Amino acid sequence: MNVEPVAKTESGGLRLSLRSETRFAAVGLIVVGVFLISMWAAAWWAMCAQREALDQARLEQMRVTGASLAQCAEVMLAAGEVTALRRIVAQTAQDAHLARCRIVLPGGRIVADANPANITLRELPAQWPGGAAVLPAEGPPASLVFTLVVPQRGSAVLEMARTEDLSQASYYWLTQAGIGGICVAALLALLVLYRRVRAGLRGICAVREALLAREHGQTALEALEVNPEWGPEARAWNDMLGQEETRQKHVALEKTRETLQARVCGTDRLTVACDALSQGLILVERNLRATYVNSAAALLLRAKREDMLSADIASFVKDERVVAAARAAAGNGAMQRRTIVEVQRNGETGGGVLRFIVRPVRRDDSGVAMIVVEDITQQRAAEEARHTFVAQATHELRTPLTNIRLYTEMALDEGQKDPAVLANCLSIINQETFRLDRTVADILSIAEIEAGTLTLRRDDVRLEEIFPELKADYEAQAHEKQVELEFRLPPKLPVIKGDREKIRSALHNLVGNALKYTPAGGQVRVAVKVNPGDQLVVDVSDTGIGMTEEDRQHLFEKFYRARDPRVAKVTGSGLGLAIAREVIRLHGGDIGVESELNRGSTFTLTLPVPPEGA
Ligand code: ADP
Repeated sequence: MNVEPVAKTESGGLRLSLRSETRFAAVGLIVVGVFLISMWAAAWWAMCAQREALDQARLEQMRVTGASLAQCAEVMLAAGEVTALRRIVAQTAQDAHLARCRIVLPGGRIVADANPANITLRELPAQWPGGAAVLPAEGPPASLVFTLVVPQRGSAVLEMARTEDLSQASYYWLTQAGIGGICVAALLALLVLYRRVRAGLRGICAVREALLAREHGQTALEALEVNPEWGPEARAWNDMLGQEETRQKHVALEKTRETLQARVCGTDRLTVACDALSQGLILVERNLRATYVNSAAALLLRAKREDMLSADIASFVKDERVVAAARAAAGNGAMQRRTIVEVQRNGETGGGVLRFIVRPVRRDDSGVAMIVVEDITQQRAAEEARHTFVAQATHELRTPLTNIRLYTEMALDEGQKDPAVLANCLSIINQETFRLDRTVADILSIAEIEAGTLTLRRDDVRLEEIFPELKADYEAQAHEKQVELEFRLPPKLPVIKGDREKIRSALHNLVGNALKYTPAGGQVRVAVKVNPGDQLVVDVSDTGIGMTEEDRQHLFEKFYRARDPRVAKVTGSGLGLAIAREVIRLHGGDIGVESELNRGSTFTLTLPVPPEGA
């Protein structure tokens, strides 16, 4: 089989080509074989038919010639013209290409023969006896035998045998050779045609093979390629495979791009999320250089993010403990758990406390340390406030308790002897019990306020009832302390909405403080008015000890009491104002203060007044 040179040397393409070639050649051989056999059979049949026809024609010709010769022989034998007869017989045998032509009398005596040497009866008898002629059995078998009836002499037989016609045989062989030649020529023509058709079709056949291979699961495009020299179909097929390959690559590229984009988006989202963290986040490689720093970390460490990136962490984290922990975490398994380091920032960087949590992040190839930075200044302040609160609350509770214990002991020891001492002790115990009760109530209120669980009852608060009660409550105390207490009330006081008891205790706190911190001879004035903007304004002013500006700023903080030694002499917890302002603010109002040391203070309480009829 002829295998064309394969331009594409890939084994798949070559395999396809060989397979298609083999099939095509097999089909071609079968066609040629069938053609040759058919031709040969047709030629054989034609030759046999022709031979039969020729034989029949010759035999007929011999029969006609024989019949004439027989008539002629009867006449000449009757006339006794044997010599002329012998001449005619020889002439007829020669003309008709007979192998034998003779006249035989009964008894086998040959009167005339194409070959004169075979004549056995030279003289014709006048009469001969009848009977069957016994023909001598030499030469080819007789083809025709005529019985001659010679009047008054007897009967004879004319025997004719035809020769094997050599020209006829050569004619047959010539015919055969002609047919064979035509077959060979046709075969050659077929071969040329086959080569041409094969050249035209092998591309299509190879493409068909490729399609079948694909149908059977071959997906490798290189294996499906065919020899491009096999015509435009092969080239078009290869082009199509090339486009398919390009498309597959494009799809793969697109998928890769989408995956990458998803990862990048994921990374972007992660970066955005990390940047949004309030805690600082730093990733440190084994060489202690930062590979990621979020904005909170830069802010907390008061450094520029771009300066921190790729920089040694020791350059922006000044604490050696953090650096050592990061080194251990980024190393190989040196540290498995997190390390927490709290660093006090110095004044240069603004103060406060930073907490560094250093933990290892394991990766396949190397270690990375993650440092989380938190500003715990507020947390620390809250913790300190909580400690202070507990300490102050404990102190505030302990003072009346100590007094109660001491005066109880005194009452027990000395009270039985001296009733006056007993009465004094019981009175003080009573006062301290009230004080304890108030302090506990205040602590509970503060705790509720800070927890956000302080609830207000919303009732009608009739101010025209509250202020006279207030006045009545403090008049005796003012008188006793020799402080002038004055209430300036408008003729008509509104009804506001709110928690009556809580508003009342806030007003009590202001008036009580004014009396507490105003020495004898001073004045306390409570002025109430309702502003046109529907706002109740209560000014509680005194001519007392006043306070410094610093005290004024901290006045409303819980447990705060002014540093003034005169304040320390007065019992108090430092909770009253904190609670009062918070309660008033919960009602939509506020409490402010103006004060001057040694000249007095004015506390102003405002509350919204609902429009009439509301
Ligand atoms: P306290 O129980 O100590 O009075 P408060 O919260 O009511 O607690 O008051 C807090 C602090 O405010 C007081 O300790 C005092 O130093 C200061 N203060 C309050 N009212 C007056 C006032 N009228 N004159 C001067 N100082 C005052």
